[in-house]
Amino acid sequence: MTDAARPLVEARGLVKTFALPGTGFGGGRDRVRAVDGVDLEVRPGEILALVGESGCGKSTTGRMLVRLVEPDAGTVRFDGVDLTAIGGRELRRMRRQFQIVFQDPYGSLNPRMRVGAIVGEPLTIHGIGSSRAERRDLVAALLERVGLEPSAAARFPHEFSGGQRQRIGIARAIACSPRFVVADEPVSALDPPVQAQIVNLLLDLRENLGLAYLFVAHDLRLVRHVADRTAVMYLGRIVETGPTEAVFADPLHPYTRALLASTPSARPGATTPPALAGEPLSGASRPGGCAFHPRCPEAFEACPVIEPGLLPVGATRAAACHLVHPPAGIDRPEGASDRGETNPRGGA
Ligand code: SF4
Repeated sequence: MTDAARPLVEARGLVKTFALPGTGFGGGRDRVRAVDGVDLEVRPGEILALVGESGCGKSTTGRMLVRLVEPDAGTVRFDGVDLTAIGGRELRRMRRQFQIVFQDPYGSLNPRMRVGAIVGEPLTIHGIGSSRAERRDLVAALLERVGLEPSAAARFPHEFSGGQRQRIGIARAIACSPRFVVADEPVSALDPPVQAQIVNLLLDLRENLGLAYLFVAHDLRLVRHVADRTAVMYLGRIVETGPTEAVFADPLHPYTRALLASTPSARPGATTPPALAGEPLSGASRPGGCAFHPRCPEAFEACPVIEPGLLPVGATRAAACHLVHPPAGIDRPEGASDRGETNPRGGA
């Protein structure tokens, strides 16, 4: 396998449960499975989008990839090193290579620190730059790299707009020349024109620094614009993956189709489509069979009783749906097309 084809980040069987508030001390039934057995891979320089409704587990998954959240089970390998098996100095050393950009540019910067100290903090932690003067120069270069004046270093976060604060957060994230960044809804708190500027900055950094991203998002129009591959999450599990253009042009899973149908069009005068019907139930009350079946307009007899696995479709796609891969001995409903040709394994 060539270096470009070998995953930079590889997660297997990730599980994370959280105690539900007000339900005692977190015994079995009092915990919600926010992430429930997720496998995914990000290759060097690749942008993998992770999409789904609020609460589907996508942000928790992203945070587990950079060990901001500890998984209950599963592994995360970064360039072959199992991050879940290391700690202390070894983990700190690895952290140079992966970073996160948070959704909230207001809450993610310490209001009492000057911008120069915020952006320079990772340099100090990782011992980059031999003197304060050298670190000051590096901070100035980082600020310019993200489109800010070097003089911004002397000011406080509250003196900047939302877009500028997100640029500061990005400068902090790239300070140690990482190879992988989790961008956790990086533009959803910003106005549309500013969103486009920040997205272009992230794409420019990918181009020039060779960064790989996990792009956590719910804005599917944005995802189509930026991501090489897309993974769709529902109730803690991935239900469809594939090259972004293929997933958007020909979605295999009814949930993906419903998400796309509920996405507003960018065309002037376009009407707002109806929101996806029903509410995703919490993992604590996960429906049996296919978890999407109470909301699925295409559900049939197998759906409430048999859980579909995420199985390959062609060389590059995968879907977890009985319409795509009917269980043995059960036929698809009349009119449903045959999408699950047998083929080599896909994966997120
Ligand atoms: Fe819908 Fe059944 Fe497919 Fe689940 S398995 S998405 S309920 S058709």
